Amino acid sequence: RKRCIKITTGAKTFDAILGGGVESGSITEAYGEFRTGKTQLSHTLAVTCQLGFDQGGGQGKCIYLDTEGNFRPERIEKIADRFGLDADATLDNIIVARAYASDQQCELLKPLAALIAEHGPFRMLIIDSIIALFRVDYSGRGELSERQQKLGQHLSALTRLAEDMNIAVFLVNQCTADPGAMSLFAPVVKPVGGNVLAHASCTRIHLKKGRENCRVAKVVDSPSMPEAEAQFAITDGGIAD
Ligand code: ADP
Repeated sequence: RKRCIKITTGAKTFDAILGGGVESGSITEAYGEFRTGKTQLSHTLAVTCQLGFDQGGGQGKCIYLDTEGNFRPERIEKIADRFGLDADATLDNIIVARAYASDQQCELLKPLAALIAEHGPFRMLIIDSIIALFRVDYSGRGELSERQQKLGQHLSALTRLAEDMNIAVFLVNQCTADPGAMSLFAPVVKPVGGNVLAHASCTRIHLKKGRENCRVAKVVDSPSMPEAEAQFAITDGGIAD
């Protein structure tokens, strides 16, 4: 097993509940409601993975697999500025791949794996988001098991890529209200993707809105860390304390 590298989220308390940051060599999943910071965290990681090891980085490039048109180069420029990186060079180190259908999303992994092998080092593969296209393409009655089967194959290819290349695979996920759980204070939500995604994700993070502009990250599943929460902020320079 290769040495695991921890990539900073941009926020110290958030890193702390992750045991240092987002790990290379496995899949980390972040789920949460609309506007909780999933895409902003993705953009921040696309930059911080390029930092030196002594700065909480991974000294590697990033692939951003965008399934919803969320990627914004101007956000990357601002985040690069904050970390003292050259904006153009930082953008050049982020390979953006756009998928419009779930089968295209799956098929992209082959050329991307070749790119990683030949034009590395890469340290981060972000999929924003992992399941949105599957939910559209397999929305009919009776299509759920086929969807889960395809998703499972996709996720095992991602696990293999993470392990073989010592890359941090970071997945953005959606969530739904959990009808089985009740709370007086807030809707109880759960990530979509069922057992297939739950098993593939090594680390799961729930992102929530806190007071005012504050956000809360909760580690809900980790191989080495307890359940814990951390507050963070979304700033012009990305995720911060
Ligand atoms: P999600 O992907 O979970 O739907 P986002 O990651 O897109 O959510 O986060 C959206 C939030 O980020 C919004 O509340 C927005 O105000 C905030 N945001 C976006 N850009 C900036 C910025 N440049 N400075 C501060 N906050 C920002």
